[in-house]
Amino acid sequence: MKSEKHILVIFGASGDLAWRKLVPALFDLYVQKLLPAQFAVLGVGRSALSNDEFRQKMAIGVEQFASFKHKPRETVDEFVKYLNYYAFDTMNGAEYAGFKQAITLLDAQVGTGGNYIYYLATPPSMYSIIPKFLNEQGLHDETHGFKRLIVEKPFGYDLATAKKLNAALLGQFEEEQIYRIDHYLGKETVQNLLVTRFSNTIFEPLWNRNYIHHVEITSSEDIGVGNRGGYYDGSGALRDMVQNHLLLLVGLVGMEPPAVMGSTSLRNEIVKVFQSFRPIRQEEVEKYVIRGQYTPSVIRGKQQKGYRQENGVASESRTETYVAMKFFIDNWRWAGVPFYIRTGKMLPTRVTEIVIHFKPTPHHLFAGNATVAGSHNKLVIRIQPDEGLLFKFGMKEPGGGFKVQEVNMNFHYTELRDTYLPSAYERLLLDCMLGDSTLYHRGDAVEAAWAFVDPILKAWKENPEIPVHGYPAGTWGPDVADNLFDEPGFSWRYPCRNLVDDGN
Ligand code: NAP
Repeated sequence: MKSEKHILVIFGASGDLAWRKLVPALFDLYVQKLLPAQFAVLGVGRSALSNDEFRQKMAIGVEQFASFKHKPRETVDEFVKYLNYYAFDTMNGAEYAGFKQAITLLDAQVGTGGNYIYYLATPPSMYSIIPKFLNEQGLHDETHGFKRLIVEKPFGYDLATAKKLNAALLGQFEEEQIYRIDHYLGKETVQNLLVTRFSNTIFEPLWNRNYIHHVEITSSEDIGVGNRGGYYDGSGALRDMVQNHLLLLVGLVGMEPPAVMGSTSLRNEIVKVFQSFRPIRQEEVEKYVIRGQYTPSVIRGKQQKGYRQENGVASESRTETYVAMKFFIDNWRWAGVPFYIRTGKMLPTRVTEIVIHFKPTPHHLFAGNATVAGSHNKLVIRIQPDEGLLFKFGMKEPGGGFKVQEVNMNFHYTELRDTYLPSAYERLLLDCMLGDSTLYHRGDAVEAAWAFVDPILKAWKENPEIPVHGYPAGTWGPDVADNLFDEPGFSWRYPCRNLVDDGN
């Protein structure tokens, strides 16, 4: 579906996100004819760039990062004509009158009737300031045309700052105008979680405490902090990955079926899961949450730096590059079912997956079925890479007797031929253009997620005796994370790049 006519203002247009993700995603929408004819981008930054210089820079980004492999020069040239640039200091309220003039002038040419989307791709410190100055100029007002505001991550630094940011935004824009982005929700395979659960009768009857033993979620990276050490050292894995992306996956696995497929219904169900998390009290943090930091090692013959040796990282830093935790959702469906989640940098492979571990059979009839670990079914939902589903179950080993062996049944997304997988930003930008906020976070969900994570942050800050466990770069994190599983025979899965090859 084509979006309504509008101007997309990208605050932070001279930055990395606009260049690598946003403008290439717009190009992909353009190629699919999903942008309206009356459309323009107004990029904003401090760098003094002319329209031509901005277009040339973005054309290089499009060439490198757009998903469509086929990019004829003339198509890129046509596309970049939609791009415009206006330089000003967004911290200075006095300069917004000039910005208002610029957008009004542009709209006089494009003719959108005042439909504006503002994308905040600036440093987070500006997320509350820009809306305030837009409001002062009346640029939030929907009397003539819609006004929408997309806010990038991170949304707050802890519960207090997230609440403050929500309050600041809601002081200037209505909740319905605010789109809090989490690019995980833009991923096809994350959305497919809903379809897998709610379009198949075979899963839903089993999807509860009666049949599920535990749920395991892993999101690993095989790279370190690279040149983002300065930023990362003030953040860490809990803020960067757990509070937003991993808890969102828990929300989608744990939610009840929404009444209808719409933004209110779906987001109501996600927030209910977040509100049902059993709080981890500060004194329980050491037991249930393991933090780690990668240390120097040699990977495939190559010396790899430890986290503390990375550029921009303090030499005594206690920022976690790894988190593993165990927690519970206290509600009717999930009472007593542990959720294990982990994320880390410099782990053996880049993978995001959810594993539903079903309960072992109540009685072990067959040889090979005698150990708990060997006797339970697993459903692996692979988010990336090698996207797909893998079901592990027991079959008779050919030959005499009744011996059980674990076998695989799998589906790979690549089997859906001729299917184009849109990038997360492409999907989310289009949704906002269509006024659909289903795949964006609502303010109460963001606060509920922070409320869960906050005591952990506090405990780490206030109790330096809670260890930061070292793990050699290229390994699956600190061994102590295995102790989160207290039942014999259960442990983490060791995924490989290919869905069906696993270390278990
Ligand atoms: P970046 O490369 O540092 O770019 C920041 C942008 O903000 C630049 O265009 C900069 O313009 C502009 N800016 C800064 N101060 C300004 C001011 N006073 N007035 C006007 N413009 C100003 O950052 P980024 O990597 O693009 O990230 C942008 C935001 O997205 C961050 O909050 C980040 O957390 C979030 N994010 C980024 C990524 C990613 O992949 N990069 C992913 C997820 C979320 P000038 O340089 O021209 O001054």
